[in-house]
This record gives sequence, structure tokens and C-alpha cells, in this order.
Amino acid sequence: MIPLFKVYMDDSVETEVPKTLLSGMITQSTKVEEFEKELKIVMDHPYILTLNSATSGLTLGLRLLDLSPGDEVLCTPMTCFATTASVLANNLSIKWVDVDPSTCNMDLDDLKNKITSKTKAILCVHWGGSPIDIDRLKHIACDIPIVEDCAHAWGSRYKNRHVGTTGNIGVFSFQAIKHLTTGDGGLISLPTKELYDRAKKLRWYGIDRDERSKGDFRLEKSITEWGYKFHMNDIDATIGLCNLDGSLENVKRHMDNASFYTKELSDIKGVECVKKIPNSESSFWIFSIKIKGKNGFIKWMKSKDVMVSQVHKRNDLNKCTEQFSDTTLVNTSRLEKELVCIPCGWWVSDNDRCRIVYLIREWCDMYLQLKIKKLTPDRLHEYVDLLSHFNTADYLDCKNSIVYDEIWCAVLNNKIVASSKLLIEDKIFRRVGHIEDVIVHPDYRGMGFGKQIVTHAINESQRLNCYKAVLTCAYRLSDFYTSCGMENKELGFEIRFPIQKRKREE
Ligand SMILES: *Cc1c(COP(=O)(O)O)cnc(C)c1O
Repeated sequence: MIPLFKVYMDDSVETEVPKTLLSGMITQSTKVEEFEKELKIVMDHPYILTLNSATSGLTLGLRLLDLSPGDEVLCTPMTCFATTASVLANNLSIKWVDVDPSTCNMDLDDLKNKITSKTKAILCVHWGGSPIDIDRLKHIACDIPIVEDCAHAWGSRYKNRHVGTTGNIGVFSFQAIKHLTTGDGGLISLPTKELYDRAKKLRWYGIDRDERSKGDFRLEKSITEWGYKFHMNDIDATIGLCNLDGSLENVKRHMDNASFYTKELSDIKGVECVKKIPNSESSFWIFSIKIKGKNGFIKWMKSKDVMVSQVHKRNDLNKCTEQFSDTTLVNTSRLEKELVCIPCGWWVSDNDRCRIVYLIREWCDMYLQLKIKKLTPDRLHEYVDLLSHFNTADYLDCKNSIVYDEIWCAVLNNKIVASSKLLIEDKIFRRVGHIEDVIVHPDYRGMGFGKQIVTHAINESQRLNCYKAVLTCAYRLSDFYTSCGMENKELGFEIRFPIQKRKREE
């Protein structure tokens, strides 16, 4: 199995971590100091603070902006839920900004349209590590403060500076599967000394720990501003110190795999790589593609032992963000239909990446050549075999009752993988399309073919001037038909009789 994520742990933890564990100082102390010193060098930025997670960092970052409850933050919906949780944790309200489907980052044109006098902050992400256009973002924002979620972007650069150090608040994650891990952990980078000093206190209840040693060493002066317990501890910092150099080496391999994919996938029809902007370097924590038949692709890759995933679900459709719902995020909806990330990390070998490209090519060729056509007599046996997968007995002797004109088959590699019957009924005033006998061959389920055959029947009904297309189905299929664009409408009534063997009137 080629995994999509893998925890990187340098061998040196085996000797270094026990030392810290037995040192008598395991919470924030000298190891944290040492780790921060190293991080400042790597990031070429003096105002950084380690924390226990990026979620804490985002929460702290927004807190530093001194907003009032209910103030409006412009947010990208395509991110880890941590981003959104930090806004909710600060009692702020969310206005969603659509995404740019070519980068998966916040769409700056939409951002521009959505800024009003109510906008108090902007919260963006560098999707997959690919920097958002920071100069343009800052230009559009004017003096509205920006918090950058850089959780994917350890090692990413924008105009030759480390992402997150270009004048905004930046937050990084050192969670298990991120480029650089401390087990769990995070980092906040601040644009000014003032914010740095304040954040340093707020990560530890609001206490200035350097001031504590005078008098009774356990007691602190009056706390001016309450803070959190968001600091990193020495155990995690030790892990971070061990992993730091390796993480930077690993980023290079992520980048190399990504440029391989960008080149090799460019001429395959049916797939498109998510792009990065000029003047930037992405650390490619994940490599995102847009592919036809995404859900089928995910399942198919799994059957070939390659893990792929969309990684983050859009945040705006959660129950807890219902009150901020925005139905106009067209590109987000469109993107989610095709977005999937493929393995591109340091563990992906030359062989692995060639195989992944090969599989993508195979999928696209297969998917794009799927043909939906009417049943012809030469395929009758195959069609009847397919129907035998319905677990109701009354399909067994159906050959004579088939009307070729009503049966649509999805044919892949000269094999019927799905079919449906579409019966057009002329009522007294209007026409109705009845979709019946939808079936997907068991070897091809969950790959999107059922959806294609149903969508075809729906489109065909419309083309033939029906005013609606209808079907009845088992309750468990209701999500499937909803995903095809149908709606559960009105009530169906029926009365069932004992099954009789069908007698044909010749
Ligand atoms: C991982 C991640 C986070 C959360 O990081 P933690 O350190 O686990 O809190 C936040 N935002 C994004 C985009 C992430 O990928």
C-alpha cells in the first residue's frame, strides 16, 4: 500500500527523547528555547513562538486582533476544520469566500467583492503548501488584518521568503503527519515585537515566565490579560529538534515528486493538476489533482493499493456553521466534485510515482471511454446476466419482456458495467420519464458508473420533453439518488401482491 501520509521520525529520537524524559524538566524549558532558536534560523524571522498545536495558534492569532464577539472574519471553506474552529472559539462570525479552483486557495476576486466595512479579519490557508498570492491579498485587504494558516506550508516560500513571515500572523502545525512533527505541536509567527511579546504571555495564561523568579518562585504578579495553556513542552521540542533537518530534506523530495507529477500528468485527458502561482515554492504537503469520476477513482486506487483522498472537506456545510451558510460558493461545489490528493511525500519512490501516473492514465482512459448506449440484441445475454444480480426472482425469465428501445447500457471495454430502463409515459397532458431497473455490475460498484447511468436517464427525460423524471427506491439508496440531483418529493403509495410468474400474451 502506498500511503497518502506517513509520520517522519528521525532515528535520533531514540537517544534524545529519553534524555529529556529523565532530565527532570519536561514541560516548557531549555529544549523549547533551543528549538525556537533553530526555527528562527530556518525561517529567517525573529518573532516565532512554539505552541502545542496549530489549532491553538489560530485561536491565539485571532485573539491577538482584539476583535469583538460577532465580528466578521472572511474565511476559506476549503481547509482543515481547525481553521474554522479557531474562529468559532473566538466567538466571531464567518463569511465564506469562494475558492479559486486552479489553486484551491481563497479566490481573491471573490474576497475583494466580499470585503465590507464589517470585515474585521481575513483567514486564509496555503492549500497543499502552495502560497496564496500574498502581495495581492495584502493589497486587497488594505489594513484588515490577515491570519495565514500555514499548516501545510512548512518549507514553502513566497518571493524567496518563508511563508508566514511576510508581515501577517502565520500559523504552522507540527502534528503527526505534517512535514515537521513534534507529535503534536504548532508555531505562530508574528509580524512585530509587540505582538510577539503579548503572544508569548498569552500562550502561558498571560504570565511573563521570565519575571517569575523574584520572591516566591511559584507566585506570579497580577496577571493583566488572561491567556491560554498553549505552549510547547520540552518532550515535543526534543522530537522537533531531532526531526528538523530531516523535515527540510523531506520537503525537497515532496517538491521533486510534485514536479514529476506536474510534468507527467500534463498530457493526460481527464485529469488536471492544481497549480501554484509564479514567484512561489510549494512544499507540497499534498499533491492535489482534479479528476473525472473522482469517487470511483478513489475506490479504484484503493483496489490498486494506493491511498488517495480529498483530505479536507469543505467547512461551510457543517451543522455548527449553519448560521453562516452561503449557497453561492459555486467553485467550491464544483471543485469538491473532482478534487483528490495523491501520495507525493518523501516515502514515494521513483517506482511508486511512475505507478501512480500509470494508474491515473489507465483510469482516465477507462473513464472517458465509457459509452452509454441503447441495448442491442447481441448484448441481450449479457444484459440478462447483469439483471440476475438483482436479488429478486422475478427477473429470471425476462428475455421476452425486454423492449430494446427502453434499456440504456453503460459500456466499458466492451462490457456492460451498468444499465437502466427509461420508460417514457405520455400522460393526458404531460410526459413523465420513469427510471427503472438501475443496476451496476458488482465488480464496478462505487466507481460512479451508477451515477452516470442515472444522470443519463435524467438528461434523456429532459431532452424528450418530460416535465419530470421519477423513480422509487429503497430508503438506503436515497442519498445516492439525491447525489444524482433528484429530490424526495411527495408520497408514494403501493399495495403489494404475491409474486406471480409473469405470463406473456404472445
Ligand atoms: C493540520 C492542520 C491544522 C491543525 O493543526 P494542529 O496542529 O493539529 O492543530 C490546521 N489547519 C490546517 C490547514 C491543517 O492541515
